[in-house]
Amino acid sequence: MSHIQLITFDLDDTLWAVKPALIRAEQEQNEWLKQYRPGTVEHHTHESLFEFKKSVWRRHPELAHHISKMREQTLYELQIEAGYSEHEARSGAKQAFEVFLRFRHKVKLYENALHILEMLQPHYTLGAITNGNADVYKTDAAEYFDFAILAEEVGASKPAPLAFEEALKRSGLSAHQAAHVGDHWEHDVLGARNAGFHAIWLNTSNAYWPHDSESPLTIRSLDELPDLVASLG
Ligand SMILES: [Mg+2]
Repeated sequence: MSHIQLITFDLDDTLWAVKPALIRAEQEQNEWLKQYRPGTVEHHTHESLFEFKKSVWRRHPELAHHISKMREQTLYELQIEAGYSEHEARSGAKQAFEVFLRFRHKVKLYENALHILEMLQPHYTLGAITNGNADVYKTDAAEYFDFAILAEEVGASKPAPLAFEEALKRSGLSAHQAAHVGDHWEHDVLGARNAGFHAIWLNTSNAYWPHDSESPLTIRSLDELPDLVASLG
């Protein structure tokens, strides 16, 4: 066994494709609004909803690393705009967000992901670090994870080192014993480097490394991960 003892994983687009779950979750959320808060979203197009969201982001920079609260705030303001009372809008935002989250967690893991996690689990501490609001414990991968960290819990999204440092705290290990794998060149690769982790880029689309710094250890598929991690040391 190599000297790596901790492997942290990004979730969205690393263990599963996030887009299908997000699209479905947003549809279900809007269906809920149409039924229980009519007039809130019917007049919006996809584009105008996005503009509305952006205006909420601009007015609430304090929520930048709290994407769940940001979504709730957007849902709240949409209902206020549609003429609902503050109380109705608050409770409606909460319920619509719960619907969103329920479907957000219905992700379909990549075919090889469970097998790879199963291989790694006896040998490493496994953690999840996500900027999203996915809960790995609500997926089929739950049993393989020793811990999961949401950026919104620590108040800083990757590439900030805070979530990585939290992973070291939870595992009791040091950065040189840790490897992080993720699909995002900045959030995952630069983030892991910022925290002193070994950074592994999951690059399924054969993209060019887009940054000035040295190109990272790269895998095309999670299948390559066990051998690569074992070789670090
Ligand atoms: Mg990702």
